[in-house]
Amino acid sequence: MNVTIPELAGWLKGFDDIAVFGHRAPDGDACGSCAAVTLALRALGKRACACLPGGMPEYLRFLPGQECVVADGDLPFAPRCALAVDVSAPDMLGDDRALFEACEARAVLDHHESNPFFGQVNHVEPERAAAGEMALLLIKALGVALTKDMASCLFAAVSSDTGNFNYSNTTAETFEAAAACVRAGADVDRITGYIYRTRTEARTRLLGLALAELHREGKVAWACVTNAMFERAGALRCDTERIVNYLIEIEGVEIAALATEQEDGASAKFSLRSVAPYNVARDVAQPLGGGGHERAAGITIHRPLAEAVDVVLSRVREVV
Ligand code: 5GP
Ligand code: MN
Repeated sequence: MNVTIPELAGWLKGFDDIAVFGHRAPDGDACGSCAAVTLALRALGKRACACLPGGMPEYLRFLPGQECVVADGDLPFAPRCALAVDVSAPDMLGDDRALFEACEARAVLDHHESNPFFGQVNHVEPERAAAGEMALLLIKALGVALTKDMASCLFAAVSSDTGNFNYSNTTAETFEAAAACVRAGADVDRITGYIYRTRTEARTRLLGLALAELHREGKVAWACVTNAMFERAGALRCDTERIVNYLIEIEGVEIAALATEQEDGASAKFSLRSVAPYNVARDVAQPLGGGGHERAAGITIHRPLAEAVDVVLSRVREVV
């Protein structure tokens, strides 16, 4: 069933024990939106936790609301109600999928055009730049006053999915959401400083290793991050975030892919980016079992890195 945000808020109010789920390899939008909604539910007196597979990535640990995050589905209560936020498909729940499905009441709040409406109750708006915009509306609909902590999380969410208000998905509503967060006390310099103007040495070295072996074929650019590179750089898995931007920003490139070898060595995760008119969610990721947005999508291919790259590139070559 598709519901409005006020209807979703009313539905949530009917439960006392709520788990809020983000997607695996959670980014700023998933982390910020889940933390803010969880803080708002707690403000209403609910028992609530934000379930983020693997926990908040290191570079987002400066955000408030860390105390409500559960890393490995290890909840201090048995949730009756589940709300997935920024989760494009059930498999994106990662190791928390079973926990989500075990909840008797399940809802989805998302902005991916590929979302299959996997909740009993769903609110999906593909035009929204970030789940954070919708989380803000949900908090308002719950009748909770926006605190500085919630606002900081939501500013990080909206900023993350728009490349700090840079990408084509940025709208007037995005700026309105950001303005509401700043008015409620979100510190723009501090938040953007942590996300965009600070990186660990290891993350910087990983970026260098990945870009040193960049591949180019007409409008397409790709690069790989191997397990050996992670080891050499001393980098974390979350350190691949935004490397793909350097590929799509190359003059003349219209589709870019970053392939990250997974720890098992038997699969690879792809970050796909495009410029208009290419739709990487619909035309590349979805046919191969992934999903995402028009200009930013992803997929995991269960094959060793080199083979997985061949699979994705063949699909990309058909599209360009
Ligand atoms: P990223 O490249 O930043 O990891 O992902 C880009 C977008 O695609 C995000 O909105 C993310 O949620 C979505 N996405 C990434 N990987 C997958 C996947 O394997 N399946 C689906 N359905 N969506 C994905
Ligand atoms: Mn998002």
